[in-house]
Amino acid sequence: MTSLSVIVPLFNEQESLTDLLDQLYAALHDRELRQLFEEEFNFEIIMVDDGSTDGSCRLISNMIMSRPEIRLISFQRNFGKTAALSAGFMAATGDYICTIDADLQDDPFAIKELIIKMQEGYDLVSGWKQERKDPLSKTIPSKLFNLVTRLFTGISLHDFNCGLKLYRKEVTRRLELRGDMHRYIPVLAEWMGFKIAELPVRHQARKFGSTKYNSSRFFSGLFDFLSVLFITRYLRRPMHFFGMAGLTSFFLGFSISLYVTLDKILLHKPVSNRPILFLGILLLILGVQLFSTGLLGEMLSTSSSKESLFAVRETVNLGAGQARKFGTIE
Ligand code: UDP
Ligand code: MG
Repeated sequence: MTSLSVIVPLFNEQESLTDLLDQLYAALHDRELRQLFEEEFNFEIIMVDDGSTDGSCRLISNMIMSRPEIRLISFQRNFGKTAALSAGFMAATGDYICTIDADLQDDPFAIKELIIKMQEGYDLVSGWKQERKDPLSKTIPSKLFNLVTRLFTGISLHDFNCGLKLYRKEVTRRLELRGDMHRYIPVLAEWMGFKIAELPVRHQARKFGSTKYNSSRFFSGLFDFLSVLFITRYLRRPMHFFGMAGLTSFFLGFSISLYVTLDKILLHKPVSNRPILFLGILLLILGVQLFSTGLLGEMLSTSSSKESLFAVRETVNLGAGQARKFGTIE
């Protein structure tokens, strides 16, 4: 039996929900989709209400009476889309996990196409809003975001932050998301060694409600970008980052101070009125600080858990108990 979990993060989307669930049910009962799985197929729809203050939560509770495949997780307050997705991933029981936005901008019938693509041998298939139906105030910053992410990570996706994505369960189990990191899920997945692909999907203009994101996201996005870059490169070797910067700074500071000192001793030039002296001192102190930060980082990463040190695809001949430790057994 193959199962699919569809996760829908939602924040004040009550006008869209009835249409969305109708379309999702139609898409998931589609014969062609079911034929993609040779065995029996079932699905669940996990609605994650991210602290909505409209009637979204009540509406979903009512729908559950007639549609038992729907599950609901309702947050105490608004925690953001990353938290909503994480909660959905934790609750999902399917072999395949699909995420889709609640605002009807993503097309539920595209799920079938994502599955076909995944069956070519991918672990994560990400939608690509090739013809994006959003105002310029969204599309231009988004193009920039995708360009920068592509340049820094070397991953050739056009659209990192599409709400429509399909994962194998092994991927969602290993994702550890914080902040607003949902925008970088493909980067984290690729770093863990999963195979990722992209597929153009239809995109609709928002019919109801308004976007939940404004320009402030670009600042928080910058910090998340830095942490993702740091995590994917230096999580387990912070000294390589801080140590290098620290040593460079210390070496420069030391050279400057030596030069000023020799000038004083050999050429009897006064020291106190030379701005370069302060630069030398600053670089020396900075160097020591960066180096100590690296040491602290090493201590922290040594004492923290071994998880996310590596990702194991399968284990052979290891015994159930041990294999479970590597997450390769149910
Ligand atoms: N969303 C959420 N929590 C938030 C903000 C957004 O669960 O704090 C949901 C929202 O309801 C929608 C999806 O995330 O289903 C994408 O949000 P939105 O459509 O506002 O983003 P945009 O498409 O404008 O980038
Ligand atoms: Mg949207």
